Amino acid sequence: MALFGKIGSLESNQEEKNEIKEVEKVKVLIVGSGPAGYTAAIYTARANLSPVLYEGLQPGGQLTTTTEVENFPGYPQGVTGSDMMEDLKKQAERFGTDIRFGLATEADLSQRPFKVTIDGSKVIEAEALIIATGATAKYLGLPDEKKYAGSGVSACATCDGFFYRGKDVAVVGGGDTAAEEALYLAGLAKKVFMIVRRDELRASKVMQERVANAENIEVLWKHQTKGLFGDGVVEGALLVKNLGTPEEEEVKIAIDGFFLGIGHKPNSDIFESFIETDDVGYINTVPGTSKTNVPGVFACGDVQDSIYRQAVTAAGSGCMAAIDIERFLAEQE
Ligand code: NDP
Repeated sequence: MALFGKIGSLESNQEEKNEIKEVEKVKVLIVGSGPAGYTAAIYTARANLSPVLYEGLQPGGQLTTTTEVENFPGYPQGVTGSDMMEDLKKQAERFGTDIRFGLATEADLSQRPFKVTIDGSKVIEAEALIIATGATAKYLGLPDEKKYAGSGVSACATCDGFFYRGKDVAVVGGGDTAAEEALYLAGLAKKVFMIVRRDELRASKVMQERVANAENIEVLWKHQTKGLFGDGVVEGALLVKNLGTPEEEEVKIAIDGFFLGIGHKPNSDIFESFIETDDVGYINTVPGTSKTNVPGVFACGDVQDSIYRQAVTAAGSGCMAAIDIERFLAEQE
């Protein structure tokens, strides 16, 4: 077994290990700065466990890419995703969390203390570890997805669907995520297009039936997305039907919102050689707890949740991880 799980490669690299100069010992290390990581930080800091939290590639996590958050309890007027994450960060700092900018690039969880390398150069040795690295929605890779980010492009119907009440939207994808997003949006929007690249859905039969029975969902079979257009905000999508065949044709649809539903990727790569995951990479936790298969390593938030994926459920699981880690460390002492 490789000693180091590493981004891009599971093989250990002696040369790189030799370059590592600085080693720091901490009691509790939290990796990730979404609602799960910050909530774990608030609780562990208040329990006097002196947590050190590394923010990762996207400080604040996925919520910083959404606009308004209106479903997190306690914000009756709603709040922007970035303001909410800033509040959570301040709350974690208030109790003494040491919050640092940096990306976990390698991990060795073969024995305690666990070793997590930050930015390829510094090793943190932690008595216990909370993995809150989240998941990343998959995008098609079109430049227009970036151009209209927050202006009509979203990867979360539950977060942003409300803004499209009475409007026309499209969901790309044909799996359970896309079907679920389309059905959720069908309850709000006037019309929902599902852009499906094949002539069948990958979604479960029950979801296929629900999609077929929804009056305001139109499935565009064998369609792929070429681009989006609109003056500052999404006003439509340019699609290609029957790509690569003699019947290939361009199709334009008028929409106000374009939702990605082609899946998520849990950010568990560097831990995967030590931690049990499912086929997709979601970390397996002991049901009802945040415990992984490695004693002393806990997981919370979207990196271990393929089903709910909400800020409030992530925050709740962050609290569970903090309580689990506190009990674990107390038992060790
Ligand atoms: P899936 O991998 O199951 O489906 C992805 C879908 O997106 C497929 O239809 C795929 O097309 C399409 N797709 C992928 N890449 C592209 C692309 N570049 N262009 C166009 N279309 C693309 O992912 P899901 O997130 O839907 O589901 C993941 C797992 O989570 C599944 O096991 C699912 O059952 C589960 N899940 C369960 C839920 C629940 O129980 N409530 C809710 C959501 C997910 P193609 O079929 O042609 O490959």
